[in-house]
Amino acid sequence: MHYRGRFAPSPTGYLHLGHAMTFWAAQERCRERGGKMILRIEDLDADRCRPEFCDVLEEDLRWFGLRWDEEPFRQSERRAVYRDAFEKLRAGKHIFACTCSRRDVMSAAGAPHTENDEPVYPGTCREKNLDGTNANWRFRVPEGEVMQFTDANFGPRIAISGKDFGDFLVWRKDDVPAYQLAVVVDDAAMEITEVVRGPDLVVSTFRQLLVYRALGLQPPAFYHTALIRDERGRRLAKRDAGMSLRTLREAGADPERLREQVAASLRVKASSR
Ligand code: GLU
Repeated sequence: MHYRGRFAPSPTGYLHLGHAMTFWAAQERCRERGGKMILRIEDLDADRCRPEFCDVLEEDLRWFGLRWDEEPFRQSERRAVYRDAFEKLRAGKHIFACTCSRRDVMSAAGAPHTENDEPVYPGTCREKNLDGTNANWRFRVPEGEVMQFTDANFGPRIAISGKDFGDFLVWRKDDVPAYQLAVVVDDAAMEITEVVRGPDLVVSTFRQLLVYRALGLQPPAFYHTALIRDERGRRLAKRDAGMSLRTLREAGADPERLREQVAASLRVKASSR
């Protein structure tokens, strides 16, 4: 099987050094295996993904030293594919309509487990059989299943469904496919063999494994990188404007030097030569 990896940025802001380093790790794994890289722009959320960020994304990636094969994919052009998958999940009764607001879920469920993760859905609409009018759609997560996958970086990972994570969104009431659905449909359709991404998405991998199973699709391998820190050991914040590739470039930064600064913490090479 030929290795196929991907970069999957969401243009909700300028790309920052943390994104670029994660992508660098993905590119290194792909190169070592003589594979192909796919660029997929995750621009489904029209409120948050603004054209000014989309327009410069490819230029910023190239400046940092990232390269991809094939024409980039845009999720905003692939709605029909997500809709088909949604209908399949609905026919299989894997999902249910839910009228709870984010606030309802927060107050009923209490505090989330970690800063990155959402609270476990309390089950309010699970058995209501709502028809979907003005509602979100959630995946019905099995209660108490011990799930496992072997991370190519961290080794065996375990989670208990319904406890470590709960019923999650697959389609939003503003008619936007949710990340967990779109990412599975696309990684399968684009024949991605290994997903390389940040450690904040480990719990989502379990969610996605349930979606793969429900759709009868074969999941890829998963490699979650170490947390990306700057040279002083601080975590790189997603919204740290000072660290955007734009800003760094305008300040005359050298991409190879930047890669060296953080590559050691990811145990990947900084140089493409
Ligand atoms: N678009 C997602 C993000 O930027 C990518 C998630 C993934 O790699 O699966 O967080």
